[in-house]
Amino acid sequence: MIDDLNSRASTETVLEHTAHDAPEPTTSTPAAKAPVNNAFADMGLAPELLAAVRDLNFTQPTPVQLKAIPMALQADASLPSIDLLVSSQTGSGKTAAFLLPVLHTLLVERQAQEQAEADEWQKKVEDAKAKGEELPKKPRRKNPTDARHVKPAMPGALVLCPTRELAQQVAKDAIDLVRHCKGLRIACVVGGMPYAMQIARLHNADLVVATPGRLLDLQRSKQLHLNKVQFLVVDEADRMLDLGFADDLADIHKLTEQRRQTMMFSATFAPRIQQLAVRIMRTPQKVQIDSPQEKHNNIKQILFWADNAHHKRKLLDHWLRDTNIDQAIVFASTQIECDGLAEDLQQVGFSAVALHGALSQGLRNRRLQALRDGRVQILVATDVAARGIDVPSISHVFNFGLPMKQEDYVHRIGRTGRAGRDGLAVTFAEWRDRRKILDIEHFTQQTLSAEMIPGLEPTQRAPRAPSHEPRRGGGGKPGGKPGGAGRTFAGAKRGSSFKPRGAPRG
Ligand code: AMP
Repeated sequence: MIDDLNSRASTETVLEHTAHDAPEPTTSTPAAKAPVNNAFADMGLAPELLAAVRDLNFTQPTPVQLKAIPMALQADASLPSIDLLVSSQTGSGKTAAFLLPVLHTLLVERQAQEQAEADEWQKKVEDAKAKGEELPKKPRRKNPTDARHVKPAMPGALVLCPTRELAQQVAKDAIDLVRHCKGLRIACVVGGMPYAMQIARLHNADLVVATPGRLLDLQRSKQLHLNKVQFLVVDEADRMLDLGFADDLADIHKLTEQRRQTMMFSATFAPRIQQLAVRIMRTPQKVQIDSPQEKHNNIKQILFWADNAHHKRKLLDHWLRDTNIDQAIVFASTQIECDGLAEDLQQVGFSAVALHGALSQGLRNRRLQALRDGRVQILVATDVAARGIDVPSISHVFNFGLPMKQEDYVHRIGRTGRAGRDGLAVTFAEWRDRRKILDIEHFTQQTLSAEMIPGLEPTQRAPRAPSHEPRRGGGGKPGGKPGGAGRTFAGAKRGSSFKPRGAPRG
């Protein structure tokens, strides 16, 4: 099996759930009241959200935010909400594009409800005063930690993600956005954490970010009711279908039929996505932001032809000794390849860890956190890490094993070049992979520039047309000088080509 996450069955067997609450929000802070003069403010978003946007240094909306937020917000409250089908790549700012309008409406409704309760209380007090009666007493606040007071969550919004990593990233983004919103709670439901903790953290959640399998488990065990969901967002819908979540999506669609708005985000408007849209959306409006070929202008993409797997290891070895690498992800095709590469790298002194779907969720979380904290330099991963990882210091992505699907190539390389930086994506391919490379080039509408490293040239004939002939060159830091001598990594294991650390390059 190429990647466990390409199999619905294996995903489902490992899906358990965890939850992350938003930190108990503060009351509206002075920051929330400060004016924000930018296009976000023109969209009519609540001041609390504008303050969070400013804290995050989002000075201007990205194109997908500029288009989707006003449509999702529907200025005229008397009209029904618009369902949106948005084609937007990872890294485009799509998460905030769906979170901001949803959180805005949840917040406005919460504030209206609180105001109505305050008005009602005030009226009771005034009535009592007018009648000369004893003033009413406020009911005692129930201890929220007491299990008797824990009610099943009834979220107003649900965001579905195909992988745990993406769900956790989206939940984190949502928590960042509600930092000034009093009382709005975010929970994340994914696999791998104890039930009790997850259920406790679901308590009072307004917005739940979830992977579908365990969300349905929780719903079926009545820990979570979906009949108050007003907003349903399906993120990375193409990947959802790849992972076999179509039936779960149909179930969730039925369970949330009362909802007022559905938004679906996908890398493409492939026919299967349009068919899904017809099934679960009401005459959705399409928002096409960019196509795969317009993306990733800040990411230099290069290709190295290799004779065989041994040659690919030599090329990877050469690259990983580039001192310009800040942090890197090396993508492998299989879990076995992933473990093997990570182990070999560790053996020769590299700070590398493996990440794939057969590992426990706790371990996956810890390893991702180590990458985020900079305690790990190289993540060797299957496509479980192709989406949702947002670590700006990832300067290089290596495709050691090619992805199964062309879309995944785009998602993989999108792990670098984050937060306005440049990135470098290096692909190693054997002659027999030529068809896959052509498919990737066709999908991205870009020709991968083939290069060679002196001394590591392929011995076999180049398989490409003259215009694709390999050019000499190195790589190096995005925008920096090619190659770069320095560190090496070593430890020839199972015939690997990794050189002893400190050995000369090439
Ligand atoms: P996404 O496509 O949602 O994964 O977002 C990609 C990255 O862009 C994330 O690091 C976001 O924090 C960041 N981002 C989202 N919106 C903006 C914005 N308006 N300005 C600057 N960065 C943004």
